[in-house]
Amino acid sequence: MRGEKMRITKIESFKQAVTLHHPFKIAFATIDELQTIIVKVTTDTGWVGYGEASPFEPVTGESIETEMVMLTTFAEQLVGMDPRLIEQIHSALDATTVGHTAAKAGIDIACYDILGQAAGLPLYQLLGGNSNQIVSDFTIGIDDPAAMAEEAQARVAAGFTELKVKVGGDDQQDLAAVRAIRAAVGPTVDIRIDANQAWTPKQAKRMMRAFGDDVSAVEQPLPAAQTHQLPLVRELVDQPVMVDESVHDAHDAFHVLATGGADIVNIKLQKASGLWGASQINAVAEAAGIPVMLGCMVETRIGITAAVHFVAAHRNAQYADLDAFMDFAEPEWLSGGFTQEGGVYTLTDAPGLGIQCDL
Ligand SMILES: [Mg+2]
Repeated sequence: MRGEKMRITKIESFKQAVTLHHPFKIAFATIDELQTIIVKVTTDTGWVGYGEASPFEPVTGESIETEMVMLTTFAEQLVGMDPRLIEQIHSALDATTVGHTAAKAGIDIACYDILGQAAGLPLYQLLGGNSNQIVSDFTIGIDDPAAMAEEAQARVAAGFTELKVKVGGDDQQDLAAVRAIRAAVGPTVDIRIDANQAWTPKQAKRMMRAFGDDVSAVEQPLPAAQTHQLPLVRELVDQPVMVDESVHDAHDAFHVLATGGADIVNIKLQKASGLWGASQINAVAEAAGIPVMLGCMVETRIGITAAVHFVAAHRNAQYADLDAFMDFAEPEWLSGGFTQEGGVYTLTDAPGLGIQCDL
């Protein structure tokens, strides 16, 4: 009802383990078992919203332990506030602490879930309403080239038309892997690579020339600390340069794009404090004429669904890398949000996130 008061009565955080089907290797880490945090916000009007906090310590310095502590602090602070007043909620969170973007994302997503339910609208309509469908790539982790090609072929057979390939280990092996994948999937599948901060500018030039037309974009070629050298990399390589670890929030995006450092920005809700921060980054990027991608950490269907809504909502969100939930057995307490046919995800019209969660 219009003008009806709504107050947060409880914020609970549930630590959940997810076991990956296969260990996942990127340039700076190998991952096999992980934890994530499901955030549940309850109101005095009976609405319940779900969010997810999935920290990745090498990128944000946040861990499950630190975010559980912050979520307890945030919970005490936010009880009594209206979850639909998203900017007010973020002002309270940011006044308490800088960083802790994963915990903030967990709260943010749950509040948007409630906002959507209270408005009777799916989030993709509330956030922008460009579409109800997205196309996601599938990410191939570093392995031996034959195994990577086999996995790529299986995913393309399952309907994926875009692949993201992790590189940044051994140069020769990276080249062999991309060649093997291209040979296995044929000429029409789009292949982007992610070097996860592993290269120097000269190495980026050498590698991207060697990849040539097999690769359509390179993600995060340089360490985040070398972000000032990205304009040089853009001069040296023909393919578009995407930033991930270099851009966490709208301030980072402004600095990188004002200096001509990137062609595409990879937004992650867990870096950006949720959908609110993602909207700000997307606005900065769109104003600079730069499209965005939505990526993910190791998130369940809750965090992924939030990002799918964001991509569907916005014309400028032209790419999606929202595949993490396929890397592990989906928990029996969670379903809904979207249906999937290969890389095409279609959102339901249920209000809010549209997920069902039994926690
Ligand atoms: Mg990345």
